[in-house]
Amino acid sequence: MTQLPSHASVIVIGGGIMGCSTLYHLAEMGATDAILLERNKLTSGTTWHSAAQVRALRHSQNLTRMIQYSVDLYARLERETGQSVGWIQKGSLSLATNPDRLTHIKRQEALAHAYGIDAQSISLAEAKERWPLMNAEDVLGAVWSPDDGRVSPSDVCAALIKGARHRGAQLFEDIGVTGILTQDGKITGVETTAGTISCDAIALCTGLWSREVGEMAGAEVPALACEHFYLLTKPIEGIVGNTPTLSDHDNRLYIRDDSGGLLVGCFEPMGKPIAPGI
Ligand SMILES: Cc1cc2nc3c(=O)[nH]c(=O)nc-3n(C[C@H](O)[C@H](O)[C@H](O)COP(=O)(O)OP(=O)(O)OC[C@H]3O[C@@H](n4cnc5c(N)ncnc54)[C@H](O)[C@@H]3O)c2cc1C
Repeated sequence: MTQLPSHASVIVIGGGIMGCSTLYHLAEMGATDAILLERNKLTSGTTWHSAAQVRALRHSQNLTRMIQYSVDLYARLERETGQSVGWIQKGSLSLATNPDRLTHIKRQEALAHAYGIDAQSISLAEAKERWPLMNAEDVLGAVWSPDDGRVSPSDVCAALIKGARHRGAQLFEDIGVTGILTQDGKITGVETTAGTISCDAIALCTGLWSREVGEMAGAEVPALACEHFYLLTKPIEGIVGNTPTLSDHDNRLYIRDDSGGLLVGCFEPMGKPIAPGI
């Protein structure tokens, strides 16, 4: 039987990328008795499915800075823990197949320069060279972002946990939170499948289940999950090594290599909401 502590300053609930990162940063900030509770195994939620693309350019400067922080963190984590995070920097290619999108990607290029990120408009010939499998007949323009990449989500989580444990924080798998205890509007502990633990605070990192877990404390978490689709093909001739990530927003697709085949994800125009409680 897992021996849980009777008290922790902070209990992080959920062992996806958010929970692992929160535990790591709490421990780094001195909350070395913080613990993480995961009801299944680490990364058994959404994080496991992630295409894990890391695209530096976001629509606000703060988000862009956060991504830049993440990229620095990945390199630091590898040095600190010896655990690879699977960083593959192959760049990304944004395509425009109509004039409005062309204006949009050119604006993004200008924004990238304002935020100090490398991005370049490239010719169709160069785009085709970077992505030989592409049918570029309807492509009007492309922007190339050389610094973009991707990680292995489970390896990033493993590195974060290793770094957090090194500072004293603890991870408990197969322990679900079943209740949240409060007194005078303040969180005082959690009930779990293996007993009760008192705490000063919780960090709710339960992703698409956050609405249900928040309800345990009487809080309404305004999060509603939507379905997201992606497909993986068998190995395809012509795919050698890692490809850049190709984004074709007007056709609602992002594409990259995966195990010698393609991973094709969709930007759903009308994402189907998932009923809470599932
Ligand atoms: C197909 C796909 C592609 C994606 N591609 C990208 C991408 O390219 N780039 C990108 O940045 N993002 C991408 N995402 C999004 C990204 O994966 C998610 O935003 C991220 O993984 C969410 O992490 P999380 O830690 O919040 O949630 P999760 O990984 O879902 O973790 C929540 C955890 O909480 C646990 N939990 C729930 N209830 C309890 C309880 N009561 N007690 C204890 N534990 C509990 C669950 O078991 C789960 O492990 C993609 C997602 C999908 C599905």
